[in-house]
Amino acid sequence: MQKVALIGEIHESGKKILSNSKFKFIEITNFSNENLIKELADVDAIAIRTIKLSKKILQECKSLKIVSRHGVGYDNIDLDYLNKEKIALAITGSSNAMTVAEHVIGMFLNLCKMSKTSDLLVRSGKFKKRKSLQNALELYQKNIFIIGFGRIGRALAKRCNAFETKIHVYDPYIDSEIIKKNNCVPVSFIEGIKIADFISIHLPLNNKTKHMITKKEMTQMKATCILVNTARGGIIKENDLIWALQNQVIHSAGLDVFEQEPPNQNNPLFEINNLILSPHNASLTLGCIKRMSIETCNNIVNFLNKNPNLLLSNIVNKDILNLN
Ligand code: NAD
Repeated sequence: MQKVALIGEIHESGKKILSNSKFKFIEITNFSNENLIKELADVDAIAIRTIKLSKKILQECKSLKIVSRHGVGYDNIDLDYLNKEKIALAITGSSNAMTVAEHVIGMFLNLCKMSKTSDLLVRSGKFKKRKSLQNALELYQKNIFIIGFGRIGRALAKRCNAFETKIHVYDPYIDSEIIKKNNCVPVSFIEGIKIADFISIHLPLNNKTKHMITKKEMTQMKATCILVNTARGGIIKENDLIWALQNQVIHSAGLDVFEQEPPNQNNPLFEINNLILSPHNASLTLGCIKRMSIETCNNIVNFLNKNPNLLLSNIVNKDILNLN
């Protein structure tokens, strides 16, 4: 009988799919390398959240056919090894773009209306001092700059369109006709940086995107610009952002992701007021957790059963596996 292992906690609805399937289903709760190597030796499929699956562990998985990630990032999995061994890597591509896009809209609105400092003002009995707050801003007719136009970038554009904004997009890997069809204008990176009132980043972190936004780019942004990163820490150079916020080079920023997660308790970011932070939970709404859990497990069951309902767009290395 084929065997499926789950590493990390997921919503019950996904587990039900695995326990009702014809496969033997095990849940692993001891994440030490030694235990993973022992438990995974004979599994056909792995459903995984954030635990690292290194080559050292993967090369001991002698029956492995698919790794299914709960989420869309896969920096915790050694994809080169999976590709070499023709093992599939699946993600939950249709579950979380709308949720992350809502998080960005939430950060945009909170930052431009200064919800955090407004709240503190009222609580500290300074209601009548509201004029002491910076001028509030709005989304209406503003220039939005979306960097990366994949699932989340497009979901964000759809929502920004409803706010009657002008949306500019930089993604050299996407046909500009697709950008235009989404009611957005393709621009160069530096054009977008200069024109933007709001910037949101939706790219993977890699050698090309690491420190894509530094002091150099921030000094070219408008002083009223609001910058949000829900993609991966390290795309914005954190020390340079601290400098830009402390010196009012830009209006404010929102971060869901950090160069180090969790960030150190003495991180200078925590001293800055024109900044809102969230603990890498942009996609962790109840609805999204449930959708991701179901999609993670359906990816495995459909793949092992060779079911045509398998969402091929979820298989990251489908070309290498000749699954097109
Ligand atoms: P996606 O793969 O659908 O889209 C990424 C886009 O970035 C692609 O269109 C690609 O062409 C573009 N791109 C790649 N390199 C680029 C470059 N150098 N310049 C410009 N564009 C480039 O990914 P997605 O699902 O939209 O996710 C985007 C990011 O969000 C990923 O890093 C993912 O890990 C992260 N994410 C974070 C959370 C969270 O909870 N904070 C949740 C989901 C995804």
